[in-house]
Amino acid sequence: MEKFRCFYLDPSIEEPFSLENSFYNKTLNPLDWFNHLFEEEVTITKVNNGDVVIKVVGVTICNTDIYEILNRGRRKKNVSRRSGKIFLGHELVGVIVRIGNNVEKFKKGDLVCIGDFNTCKAFNIEPVCDSCKNGKGIVCTHKHRRKFTSQSYGGFSEFLVRSEQQVFKLPPGFNHQSACLVEPAALAHYCFRKIERKASNVLLLGCGTIGVLLVRLIKYYFKDNVKIFCLSNNATHLETATKSGACFVSSEITAFEESAKNFRSESGASIGGFDYTFDFIGQSFSINCGIQLTKPNGSIFELAFPSTPIGIDIDTLVRKEINLSGLHGYEASSIAKNHDFQCVVELIDNELINVNDLISRTVPFSNIKEVLINECLTNMKRDNGVPWFRTFAQT
Ligand SMILES: [Zn+2]
Ligand SMILES: [Zn+2]
Repeated sequence: MEKFRCFYLDPSIEEPFSLENSFYNKTLNPLDWFNHLFEEEVTITKVNNGDVVIKVVGVTICNTDIYEILNRGRRKKNVSRRSGKIFLGHELVGVIVRIGNNVEKFKKGDLVCIGDFNTCKAFNIEPVCDSCKNGKGIVCTHKHRRKFTSQSYGGFSEFLVRSEQQVFKLPPGFNHQSACLVEPAALAHYCFRKIERKASNVLLLGCGTIGVLLVRLIKYYFKDNVKIFCLSNNATHLETATKSGACFVSSEITAFEESAKNFRSESGASIGGFDYTFDFIGQSFSINCGIQLTKPNGSIFELAFPSTPIGIDIDTLVRKEINLSGLHGYEASSIAKNHDFQCVVELIDNELINVNDLISRTVPFSNIKEVLINECLTNMKRDNGVPWFRTFAQT
C-alpha cells in the first residue's frame, strides 16, 4: 500500500506552558503550545479479518476533537492520561479501498461513514455486552477492553482502518458534506426520540450543530405542535435556530426566564415549565437554569462533558421530581425507526431535512493540522464558542 499522511495526538507530551498565559505573555507563542500534534508518513501493512480500509474524502471538525486537543488527550482535569497515539476525526465520509477476509457487508468502492454500533464485536470482545446487543455500542460496558491497533488511524488521516462493525454504508452519490453530518444528526435524532408526541414545549440550552439539527427534526416530525425555545450566547447559532423553527431564542438568561414565564402564561399550554430540556452547555448555570425552567416531572437531558465536577441544585430537582439523564449517543437498533443513522440518511437523501448549510466553511484537507490549531485558538479566545457551525475539510 502507498505511503500516506496520518495525523495524531500524543498524550504523553508535556504542556510547554499554559495556553491561557500565552495570550497575555508576548514572549510565548500560542502555536508552540500544540507540541502534542503530529503528522507522519505511514502505511498499512496488514488488514485483519473483518476490517476495511477507508480512503477519507471529507471530514468535519467536531467540538469533541477540539476539546480532546485542548485537554491534551485527558478526559478530565487531573484524570490520568490515555496511553498511545490518539487518532482524531470521526465525522468523516470515505470510500472503501480494501477489505479484509470475512467482510460481509461491504465491497470496494462503497461510500461510507463510521460510528460505534457494536463495540464488542468490532474489537472481538466476548461475550457481547447488553448495550452492544441493543445497538448501543457507544455505551458499551466493555469499552475498557478495546485494543486499538497502531494502524487504525482516524478521519484527519488520509486513510483509516475500521472493523466492518463500525462502518455505515451510504447511498451511492450521497453528498459528501451531508455525509459528514450524519453522525451529529444521528445524535440529534436520538435526542428527538426522547420527546413524546404529547409534549408541548422543549427548551434547548446551547444550540450549536446538534442543537440546530434537533430543532429541525422536532419541526419536521411535530410541525407546530411543539414549541421550541433556545438559549445561547452565540448570535450565529441563535439566528440559525430561529430560521430552523425555534419560536423563541435569547442570549440573556434573565430576559429568557422572563419570556419563558410570559410564554407559559400566554399559551396556558403547559403551566409550570418545559416538558423537556436539552443542555448542550454543561455548566452549573445551564443545568440549574434547566432545573428552574423544567416543569415538575419533566425531563432534562445532559449532553455536555464538563471537565470538572459542577454544582447542581438537587433540592429543586427533588422537589419538582425532575428526571435528569445523560445522553451520549445514537442507537443502531434492528428496528428501523430506532436506527438513528438509517433514519437521518433517509431524511437527508429525500431532502426532508437540510443539513448542508451547517457546513460554514470548507478548507483543504492538506492543511488539517493548521485548521485544527486555528479552531482551538478561536474556541479558547471566545467564551461563546466559534461563530460558525462545522468546518469541512475536503481531500
Ligand atoms: Zn462528533
Ligand atoms: Zn459492548
